[in-house]
Amino acid sequence: MGIQSVAVIGAGTMGSGIAQVCAQTGWKTWIFDVNRSVLEKSYSSIQDYWMKGVDLQKNTIEDMNSWNSKLHQLYELDDLMESIDLVIEAVPENLELKRNIFQKLDQITDKGTILATNTSGLSISKIANSTKFPNRVIGMHFFNPVPLMSLLELVKHPKIDQHTIEFATLVGREMGKKTILVSDTPGFATSRLGVVLGNEAIRMLDEGVASAEDIDYAMRLGYNHPMGPLELSDLVGLDVRRDILNSLEAELDDQRYRPHSLLDKLVERGEIGKKVGKGIYDWTDGEKRERRDF
Ligand code: NAD
Repeated sequence: MGIQSVAVIGAGTMGSGIAQVCAQTGWKTWIFDVNRSVLEKSYSSIQDYWMKGVDLQKNTIEDMNSWNSKLHQLYELDDLMESIDLVIEAVPENLELKRNIFQKLDQITDKGTILATNTSGLSISKIANSTKFPNRVIGMHFFNPVPLMSLLELVKHPKIDQHTIEFATLVGREMGKKTILVSDTPGFATSRLGVVLGNEAIRMLDEGVASAEDIDYAMRLGYNHPMGPLELSDLVGLDVRRDILNSLEAELDDQRYRPHSLLDKLVERGEIGKKVGKGIYDWTDGEKRERRDF
């Protein structure tokens, strides 16, 4: 069950990190994005990460060159002609978009290729059932930033093969991740708990319970979380978090998951977190600062 080659679909926050770790693991790695400039930016940011590692003596130039030789940009999905062991999809959290991609993957990959989705909370069954061979589809939920986070949440569904689960477990192990296996329920184990904490923290901020920093300190120092829920929401992306809440509310038919109005307001303004320089905090220049101008 050796792994030689991987294709990553979507070169945003998650796809970049996943492709980087795949190349570092020694697999031939293809990365694709519909947006060519995003693809090129992702490719160069991975190189920068490795170069910075050389400067900080975390990896050698030889490591960097070897990893670099494994990483390839893919400009058209149809160009994926060779046999690939694993495809990991990391496009935005939209069921129809993901189903369309899996239908396409069904046509262009061999039957033996394992197809994984990095969805944070959409139904794996609904994605798997868009293909002719749902037995080879699995949820592989990575965490941000992928090179640093050690968890990989594997999500099974009723039609999955045991082989697919074993393959994905091996992939996780080779990437240096701890895997957990979770049933296909909305939000799985991680997102469901994570977004509720983040949404409640935003509600508390809006109600004036405490400042953003003090709410974050409450969880960091009081509960030993490595990062506060508001800072983490900015890092993940407020758009991503709101999408997850919306789908939890719809799937579980429960208003407890409704995004708080402040979260809606920030997303509608495009202030979606660290990636754009503004979210719950102001991240101009990469430094975190409190905002009072909501
Ligand atoms: P992102 O917006 O940063 O990146 C998505 C990329 O997909 C974009 O670059 C976009 O151009 C590209 N794309 C859109 N349509 C495409 C298509 N048809 N083919 C190829 N590429 C396409 O999003 P992200 O934060 O990387 O999230 C991706 C997925 O990972 C989502 O399902 C999200 O829920 C999940 N996820 C995100 C995080 C996080 O912290 N951001 C954590 C875990 C899981």
